[in-house]
Amino acid sequence: MGTNNEIVSIFIFFVFGTIILFLDGAEKKRKRMKKTRLNSSYRRKQKNEENGEWKTLTKTFKTEKTTSEWILQLLMSLEWKQYEEVCKEFLVIKNHNANVTNTGKDDGIDIEIKNILGEVTTIAQCKAYNTNNKIGVSFIRELFGIMKSKDVENGIFFTTSSYSQDAIEFSKDKNILLIDGKKLIDAIHELTEIEQNQLLIIATQGDYTTPTCPNCDIKMVKRSGKSEFWGCKNYPKCKNTLQIRKK
Ligand SMILES: [Zn+2]
Repeated sequence: MGTNNEIVSIFIFFVFGTIILFLDGAEKKRKRMKKTRLNSSYRRKQKNEENGEWKTLTKTFKTEKTTSEWILQLLMSLEWKQYEEVCKEFLVIKNHNANVTNTGKDDGIDIEIKNILGEVTTIAQCKAYNTNNKIGVSFIRELFGIMKSKDVENGIFFTTSSYSQDAIEFSKDKNILLIDGKKLIDAIHELTEIEQNQLLIIATQGDYTTPTCPNCDIKMVKRSGKSEFWGCKNYPKCKNTLQIRKK
């Protein structure tokens, strides 16, 4: 009987030992797998972070970053005089002998382009308007009238806004270019990086959003009556007012 008991004991010991070894092995394997899983998810996370950082870094040092600053909103925020300067400078960059005229607001010409003989070949009008305030045909007719009376061959109309359908129709068989906000931005994007920056410096010089009084050539001030408007600092000597443009 004693021998039988011993055999049973050895057998039980062996069975339990096997089970314990097996469980221990399984536990170790489980821990190992968990560690691998953790490691790979950690690496993935770190890689993502590295990628994110890389993106930020490349963005930080991307030299063309300034060029993307030329957007319609910037053009829209410019006061009329600064907008005129930008249009003129754009023409100068494109190798035209362009100058802003200082002949007062009723002359109807904002920019002149002269040929090598000093003759005016092109006149331009600039109107910084709200996007919902389209340039109607009367403005284009007026420009055409000035072209005829001054015997100037070409005309350009610049606006931050767009043109009415009849304005577009009217300009079709004439040497009149209608440039809207989007067209100018697209054309600016075609310039080299240096040229775009040159234009950006001119656009954002000084207080570039407060309008200038067309008569006195000084910055206007915000005043309020029934609603807010721009008034001249020289009031009551100068009664010029301008509407506040809404975005
Ligand atoms: Zn004034």
